[in-house]
Amino acid sequence: MRVYFDNGVVVEGGGFRVLVDPFKPFDESKYDIVLVTHGHSDHVTRHIRRARAVLTRETLQVIALRYGVRPRRYHVVRPGDRLDLGGLYIHVLNAGHVPGSVMYVIETREGTVGLTGDFNPAGSNVVEGADVIEADVLVMEATYGSRHYVFPPRDELYRQIAALAEDGKAPVAIRAGPLGKGQELAKLLPSRKLYLEPRVAALNRALGFHGGRELVRGASLNPGEVLVLSLASRPPPGFLLVELSGHYVVKKPAGAIGIPLSNHADFPALLETALRSRAKRIYTVYGRAEELAKWLGRLGLRASRIPPKGQTELTQWF
Ligand SMILES: [Zn+2]
Repeated sequence: MRVYFDNGVVVEGGGFRVLVDPFKPFDESKYDIVLVTHGHSDHVTRHIRRARAVLTRETLQVIALRYGVRPRRYHVVRPGDRLDLGGLYIHVLNAGHVPGSVMYVIETREGTVGLTGDFNPAGSNVVEGADVIEADVLVMEATYGSRHYVFPPRDELYRQIAALAEDGKAPVAIRAGPLGKGQELAKLLPSRKLYLEPRVAALNRALGFHGGRELVRGASLNPGEVLVLSLASRPPPGFLLVELSGHYVVKKPAGAIGIPLSNHADFPALLETALRSRAKRIYTVYGRAEELAKWLGRLGLRASRIPPKGQTELTQWF
């Protein structure tokens, strides 16, 4: 069994080669199957159109909306599924990150490899918390893999956001990643006070979230009303700007109110996930991979940052 990073996580075992979450162009002929954990652009791009892929219905909708493509062949899955690809088995688990996000466990005759993608055991008001993942080898995300990242309870953050919206001194613009936060805010805030940038509105419609209205160009908002913006957009003048990201536990944004609402596991949840996985080998990927691997090592786990192609080790645990 080999696990390494080559524009995505690659797993080789039992005569199969699997690519997970390619975020750059890739040679689809090298892989038996491509697994996509969710629709964020650092996990899937338009290049998926040439591949045979496994993904959820929601992720398929996000890709169709953003890139106007579908994979050449695809298997639509949901948490709880077990796919048999002729000696290669794919177990699907809920990731709790954003609508349609999943984790995978790949099973071959050489053993099992778990892949968390981005995940969040705490879930949100639109997704259940992540399932427990168990495997011989675990590849886990490390976005918040530093001890400073301990997130407050989500209900407390929801109350803060609702209170800012109700404050009434100025209209509020909330800037956040549309996939995940866009649906959360549509469910959290009163529909009659909520406006969505067209890009966010289109995504919410595609995913079946109907709270709030699409902002009409040139319309102005009143105090007590809220506009949801995607990350690239600037707020109109006169708005109170609020930004949502887990990074705001340790540093605050300039010119905005930062609320540490995150769709990822915080540091304690990362440690707990690693311990509960019973994995004999752990690879960390994304964000603070090096730092998280060190902390896991201190807990007695065999962990390291995922190696790039060419520096792989043969993983054996028997
Ligand atoms: Zn993500």
